[in-house]
Amino acid sequence: MKRPPLTAAPARKALGQHFLHDPDILHRVALAAGPVAGRTVIEVGPGPGGLTRALLDEGADRLIAVETDARFAEALLAWPEAGERLHVRKEDARKTDWGAVIAQAGGNMPAMVIANLPYNVGTPLFVSWLKAGAWRGEMALMFQKEVALRICAQAGEAHYGRLAVLTGAVANAHIAFSLPPGAFKPPPKVDSAVAVITPLTDDKRFGDLAILEKLTAAAFGQRRKMLRASLKGIAKAHGKTAGDVLEQAEIDPTARAETIDQAGWRRLALALSG
Ligand code: SAM
Repeated sequence: MKRPPLTAAPARKALGQHFLHDPDILHRVALAAGPVAGRTVIEVGPGPGGLTRALLDEGADRLIAVETDARFAEALLAWPEAGERLHVRKEDARKTDWGAVIAQAGGNMPAMVIANLPYNVGTPLFVSWLKAGAWRGEMALMFQKEVALRICAQAGEAHYGRLAVLTGAVANAHIAFSLPPGAFKPPPKVDSAVAVITPLTDDKRFGDLAILEKLTAAAFGQRRKMLRASLKGIAKAHGKTAGDVLEQAEIDPTARAETIDQAGWRRLALALSG
């Protein structure tokens, strides 16, 4: 049975709908994190299904597509792969119980995540995946370029901040490629980029993202301040002084958050919670 043509429903701005149609670009996104053949893949926001089609054509063994817009979810249910290789769920991806959905679809872990994410929910969804300790699959995620840069930045770079530190605790990240607004219909206002996120092996991960989140919120929340000032409150909340925490972590108390690398944040988190 042939797949029906992609749904040509008009885009809804509130749902961050900017669609990709160029098959070359769609296959580049599909393969940006490595081969998908034989893998279980999650796609958030399949929309009319351009990337969905590329992922199926590249051999994804199970594709779980979570779409909140009924017009698109229903159209995908008519594809010949639906119920077999393609599992469509009409729901808000922020509420999806991923473990249960993967098991129900007969998928395998680690599942990959490949998606052209809706801009309004992309960052919180990504952070929730980072925080899900069991998540170990590769990801290729299209974000606004600004967000992709913030995920992939290294210490000292302009976009370095909380998102890069949280990502670096559990994964390596790099930008695969960028796209101008004109690559999408309708075009968004800004450039987009695909960030590739490769999970670290268990021995290289830093498990306590909760403390890293608090620490980086304090430090980057006042990023112009020296750490001995910006960490005062959080150190006190842990019954310590900022000076002691910084000394134990072997960090210069006059340093600023943007210069601290991943190893430094991990030492600070341990000094704070230890
Ligand atoms: N994958 C398609 C493409 O590349 O052409 C569409 C990408 S479009 C940027 C984002 C898609 O996410 C839209 O289809 C939109 O309806 C869907 N979406 C928005 N918010 C969502 C949510 N909370 N949960 C699931 N899907 C969502």
